[in-house]
Amino acid sequence: MRRFLPFLLALLALPSGMAQSTPSSAPLPTCEVADVPTAFTGYDQWGLTLVDTHFLLPAGYSPPDLVPTSEAGIGGGGELRAFVIPHLKAMAEAAAAAGHPIAVQSAYRSYQTQVTTFQYWVKVDGYAYALKTSARPGHSEHQLGTTLDIRAKGGQAPWDFQDWAATPTGAWVAENAWRFGFAMSYPKGYESETCYAYEPWHYRYLGAAAAKEIHDRGITTRAYLWGLEQQHAAKP
Ligand SMILES: [Zn+2]
Repeated sequence: MRRFLPFLLALLALPSGMAQSTPSSAPLPTCEVADVPTAFTGYDQWGLTLVDTHFLLPAGYSPPDLVPTSEAGIGGGGELRAFVIPHLKAMAEAAAAAGHPIAVQSAYRSYQTQVTTFQYWVKVDGYAYALKTSARPGHSEHQLGTTLDIRAKGGQAPWDFQDWAATPTGAWVAENAWRFGFAMSYPKGYESETCYAYEPWHYRYLGAAAAKEIHDRGITTRAYLWGLEQQHAAKP
């Protein structure tokens, strides 16, 4: 994410006005840099948990059921929650059958990994610059254990391409991931709503029904989750 955060910070100055795509009455919060604990932190609430520049996960959030992504039959390493594996396996098999085999670029990242990474860049560049170029601890969807960065099998890192979704493999994943329960968290053109720059390789597992709804309604994951949280908050 490092190379995109300067762009992100530029977006923070934009006005909000982004409630149009959520059915909720409360507007989607702006992409202000803050450390507000996110509302749903149970390990069984992975489909509800909102993580962005504003809302963060607790330091101790570390899913107990992480397994190697190799269990999905693909390379690249890393870990994801066990229940995500069959869906990743199904997507990987479909991608390979279509002639576009995929691999994992990056998967689960612990809070401590995020701390170490951020501290490293503070040391190298100073706090003000690190803030612009490195994700702050607790603010990464990768800590959920349901989120991964995808690349083509045998290919370069997806961020080495001008637009990975314009490559054959990236295009296949963008077109089909929702069928397997995955949603692209940071689509092109929605930067002011997602709080992050376009990341065509970053997918979060939300389950087939949620991913289909996000796809069919053409909304962002963040707007979808915000809407869900409002519904839950409204219940007695
Ligand atoms: Zn990512």
